[in-house]
Amino acid sequence: MYDTVHVLATNQKRRSCKDLAMLIFFASIVHRLLLERTELGTLCESNPARSKLLFDLLLRHVQTSLINKKQVSHMKSCEIDQEDEYEFNYFGYDSDDEEQYEERTHAIAVYPLFSMVNHSCIPNVAPIHLLDGRCAFVASRPIAAGEQLFDVYGFATMEFDRSFRLLCLEQCYNFKCRCAVCESFSYVSVRNMNQEEEKFLRALSDSMQVEKHLPKLIEYMNEVGRRYPKHQYTAAEVMLVRSLRIIHSYSLEDDVENEFGYFGVPARTNS
Ligand SMILES: [Zn+2]
Repeated sequence: MYDTVHVLATNQKRRSCKDLAMLIFFASIVHRLLLERTELGTLCESNPARSKLLFDLLLRHVQTSLINKKQVSHMKSCEIDQEDEYEFNYFGYDSDDEEQYEERTHAIAVYPLFSMVNHSCIPNVAPIHLLDGRCAFVASRPIAAGEQLFDVYGFATMEFDRSFRLLCLEQCYNFKCRCAVCESFSYVSVRNMNQEEEKFLRALSDSMQVEKHLPKLIEYMNEVGRRYPKHQYTAAEVMLVRSLRIIHSYSLEDDVENEFGYFGVPARTNS
């Protein structure tokens, strides 16, 4: 399965000298350790070409894993201070709910199918990390037959303006984003949602029972989804993905606190 990721682009020619030198240095150390401490040393001892192949594979691995690694995150229920509540509220208005959720990273993983999905600053799918270790993609807006699937590589229009997105994507992933929103220079802030949408989302946010409001949210998205401009990333999309992540995250009962005070691997559920 890893073969799928290993043959993907390394972006080696696009990397800066400093960046590449660091990766070569890292690969050299691992190469040396493998030759000195494993049976690969015997295999490569009298065969410089094999030793060179091993180094090339390591360097490729370092580069492809850098680009394709994904954080495995789950939503964690937590109590927050009233003073900090505003900062946690994505939609910018107060809520009486004391219980909130925050995203916590549990692991780093590589998903071959996940790696096949290109970036857009206005994605139409989002990953949901399931408790059994699999990663599911959910549609975050209506997708037409034949339409390309896009994930966001961490810099959506919701939080960053165009120039900052372009800079971050170039530095982290070595490409210049040409998605619909970057090409059109359009930028729609989540706070510019229309009154109808704001009212609807406010009503949903008053309920912490995500399972109950999810059908309404999906119905709403299907109803108005086609009317959204292609360049608009909406609060409803963020809320939809967030709701699904909450549903598929573990509950307080699943937490296993180990002797060091860290949370252990969440228990499997039957859902
Ligand atoms: Zn873009």
